[in-house]
Amino acid sequence: MSPETLVPMPIVSTPPSEFNPADFDTYVMSTYGRYGITLDRGEGCRVWDTNGREYLDFVAGIATCTLGHAHPAMVAAVTQQIQKLHHVSNLYYTQEQGELAKWLVEHSCADRVFFCNSGAEANEGAIKLARKYAHTVLGIQTPVIITAHASFHGRTLATITATGQPKYQKNFDPLMPGFYYVPYNDIGALEEAIRILDQNERQVAAIMLEALQGEGGVRPGDLAYFQRIREICNEKSILLIADEVQVGMGRTGKYWGYENLGIEPDIFTSAKGLGGGIPIGAMLCKSFCDVFQPGDHASTFGGNPFATGVALTVCRTLEQENLLANVQARGEQLRSGLQALAAQYPTVIADVRGWGLINGLVLHADAELASGDVVKAAIEEGVLLVPAGLKVVRFVPPLTVSEAEIDRALEAVKRGLATLVKD
Ligand SMILES: *Cc1c(COP(=O)(O)O)cnc(C)c1O
Repeated sequence: MSPETLVPMPIVSTPPSEFNPADFDTYVMSTYGRYGITLDRGEGCRVWDTNGREYLDFVAGIATCTLGHAHPAMVAAVTQQIQKLHHVSNLYYTQEQGELAKWLVEHSCADRVFFCNSGAEANEGAIKLARKYAHTVLGIQTPVIITAHASFHGRTLATITATGQPKYQKNFDPLMPGFYYVPYNDIGALEEAIRILDQNERQVAAIMLEALQGEGGVRPGDLAYFQRIREICNEKSILLIADEVQVGMGRTGKYWGYENLGIEPDIFTSAKGLGGGIPIGAMLCKSFCDVFQPGDHASTFGGNPFATGVALTVCRTLEQENLLANVQARGEQLRSGLQALAAQYPTVIADVRGWGLINGLVLHADAELASGDVVKAAIEEGVLLVPAGLKVVRFVPPLTVSEAEIDRALEAVKRGLATLVKD
């Protein structure tokens, strides 16, 4: 279908008088602490609230809006796909799902793909695949998956168990058996854990890690740590699972976070950036560990032609617009600007860290300021940011962000900090 045949749709904004945030809180469960602005419209790296105030969006739906807002390629993909075919059952073949799987395999270390709807669901799939592999290939009776402290893998019961942060697990027990936690980037602790777990009979089936811990504080993985893990996994036939939900799809300046560590996982998961803001998740694996058979795993909406058609457009646009190069250049620009701020406020800012366009401004542990204070001050100055824990402010703009937009965001953060820190 050519774009000319599409019916143009006017953009209708809700008049401020018709929306009342108090009503929202009456009817919507309060699972989120929300900032007091109501977002209404977006274009590129900018969003507008219902009062018409403009913000630079350095949250991008928390690392999901890969191409920013209302990117022409996404608008065309969404409108064309909805008019062609949006959903059919996985009982049939669709071209869109097959083509997206092919693109992902050709641009990663994986051989096969399973599609679902979210990061947690992708990780559930990875956990199930690893357990089935352990039972049917490795002959392990009670498989254990090792994960890291400060990790984040999602909000379902299995994935909050996998998540090595007690705050996400509190009051939701009994948790899932079969998980064991180690400190991140500590090879000695990992080797000791494997020794303890495998003492009487073999238990360790997989090690599941983020290449860079996102929610846990924008903490990059250590190269030597991951390379040694890959060796251990090869020696002991342990599966290596990379949770690429936040850092995959070009966010780090490479297609996948693991590429920054010079290793290939056996299984990895993707979600946030994959659909550019349209819900989709994927679990990918090498063919040797693809032990799923018809009936083993499923997802009603997973891989429907709407989500996969749009995601395929996101993937192709990454290539066509040479966005990995932009991510690398804008990432360096952002980090050097943040480092200048750190030099200006040495008693408040402890560190600047990240890869590509996922970066953290790390506040001193004993500073009075919390990440939420900086986020609120930045909103006042017209930039949206998001905390990654109590002391880290996270910057995850769209991968299309321009040089001028990075400069404007840095200026705004500088003004925000000046309102918070009296020197
Ligand atoms: C956000 C996130 C998840 C969970 O994804 P959902 O789509 O919210 O289920 C899992 N792992 C990592 C690393 C994430 O950042």
